[in-house]
Amino acid sequence: MSKITLDNLSHSYLDKQNSNADWALRDINLDWQDGGAYALLGPSGCGKTTLLNIISGLLNPTKGKVLFDDKEVTSQTPVERNIAQIFQFPVIYDTMTVYENLAFPLKNRGMSDGEVDSRVKEIAEMLELTKTLNNRASGLTADGKQKISLGRGLARSNVNVIMFDEPLTVIDPHLKWVLRSKLKELHQKINRTMIYVTHDQTEALTFADQVVVMHEGQVVQTGTPVELFEKPKHTFVGHFIGSPGMNIIPCQLDNGIAAIDGVKVSVSSQIKKSNFSKTEIGIRPEFVSFSKEGLPVKVLKVSNTGRHKIIDTECKSGKIKVLSHSSKNIPSGSAFLSFDQKYTYAYGDNWIIE
Ligand code: ADP
Ligand code: MG
Repeated sequence: MSKITLDNLSHSYLDKQNSNADWALRDINLDWQDGGAYALLGPSGCGKTTLLNIISGLLNPTKGKVLFDDKEVTSQTPVERNIAQIFQFPVIYDTMTVYENLAFPLKNRGMSDGEVDSRVKEIAEMLELTKTLNNRASGLTADGKQKISLGRGLARSNVNVIMFDEPLTVIDPHLKWVLRSKLKELHQKINRTMIYVTHDQTEALTFADQVVVMHEGQVVQTGTPVELFEKPKHTFVGHFIGSPGMNIIPCQLDNGIAAIDGVKVSVSSQIKKSNFSKTEIGIRPEFVSFSKEGLPVKVLKVSNTGRHKIIDTECKSGKIKVLSHSSKNIPSGSAFLSFDQKYTYAYGDNWIIE
């Protein structure tokens, strides 16, 4: 088991770099505590797999260091690092049985036959593979193959960290839910550091205690699901997490006062600096309400989702969504909005101003 530290890590697949876009990863600094359950969340292409491959040793970073328990491992091979990595698409041996597939990594590392047998049976039970242990792996569905792949990653109990790279992509929705709760349960049982990579916010937020959000090769925020919801440090976190995401509205900043369409907006923290090329207010639809006075808007559309209503409104500077309890009456035509100050933030060039 290990604490993992990434120290000023950057990676480019190109020989020469001219702009930020030429870097797959930029200035990553992270500390992953021993035994934690982490998710790495971000859209396709933001650098998640690149980061995992650098941690496991499949890829050598262009700049920076990887440390396990404060010891540098940047030049160690994947085998020396003793990591289990589960890939997006299953890696299994088609000619072997399910049992042999699960036993293979254990035998390879010199475990006795008896130990191998009990470990394989335990893992098979957990993943509901017991009945298929003697079947040939080639006959299995995509789900079945990915379960073996998961089993092979989980079978070794002495690894430093287990990394899952979008492991549920090929799994059908019902089983997805089952496997996700199993992984969470397993983390609580074996207490090993786990890093779960996904582009799906629900998967990330249900699995992890700490979520690392990535955007265009950078880590934009690390926090608990509640922190990411309540106080996004970057506008990307605001609109990527939440459904619907955060409203981001252009604003004016003068002498520490924020205003939208000339109407003053009170924000959660004091604004000291204002020399940005772009300034915006971020407020989640949950914290916007209709009021007698405030920001004038036009009500465009009301959608009922059952428990809530989502109301699309528009001010001069842009659109604003409001989430309201479905029993509430919604004004039509012209209305005023007020924002809950505690959850209203100012952003300068996409980063929160504090
Ligand atoms: P993710 O896993 O978040 O989808 P990746 O780490 O696979 O992102 O990719 C990050 C960026 O690096 C993307 O722009 C991708 O096109 C590029 N990239 C990934 N692998 C390679 C490679 N082997 N050669 C060149 N570019 C790559
Ligand atoms: Mg990937």
